[in-house]
Amino acid sequence: MSTNTINLKNNSRSLNDFSITDIGDDHLFTGLETPMKPDAFKISDDEKKQRIAILFEEIMDVMGLDLTDDSLKGTPKRVAKMYIDEIFSGLNPANKPTIALFDNKYQYNQMLVEKNITFYSNCEHHFVPIIGKAHVAYISSGKVIGLSKLNRIVQYYAKRPQVQERLTNQIAEDLKSILGTNDVAVIIDAKHLCVSSRGIKDESSATVTSYYGGAFNTPEKILELHNYINN
Ligand SMILES: [Zn+2]
Repeated sequence: MSTNTINLKNNSRSLNDFSITDIGDDHLFTGLETPMKPDAFKISDDEKKQRIAILFEEIMDVMGLDLTDDSLKGTPKRVAKMYIDEIFSGLNPANKPTIALFDNKYQYNQMLVEKNITFYSNCEHHFVPIIGKAHVAYISSGKVIGLSKLNRIVQYYAKRPQVQERLTNQIAEDLKSILGTNDVAVIIDAKHLCVSSRGIKDESSATVTSYYGGAFNTPEKILELHNYINN
């Protein structure tokens, strides 16, 4: 890649006219969709793992690690497998959970809150963990969803390189479309290891983001939801 191309990219409008240097450690995100190349799935998962293993071995080698050491020699393949099959598996739409809905036979018409869903994600700016709890809620428009599926939707979007704002909105938008209602809320409370273990090294701070859709977007419903969560 020529220097020109790099400069062009750094100054592209997707960065709101700030350069990479201007942004530094600040976490900015550019849209609801995870930025993916159009040809992201033209190669198979197996081929991706092979290529990542080669590239990760190169990173370790450049850092001076001895890849003939028994402890290190399996690491490139392990990392590649972990990236594709586990911690970044949510990039592939083929891994999206299938969701069945049921009729609301109980006629339950208050909010349902699934709280304290533990998730592990990774910051897309540093590739270090984001660890948090998600609380999701909805009011049925006639259909209900299995409780474990709410958890699975959170896990699917968490298993991507992420920023917390996008993760919050992706979960909310998907729930809205699955449940056929705007009456959906998502609150995420998470620790970013890029903030606590490096950079500013603030171990006590946490980041909270929220989405209040439809009927949830009133002070009364927000209070009610917070009461459920803090109970
Ligand atoms: Zn980060």
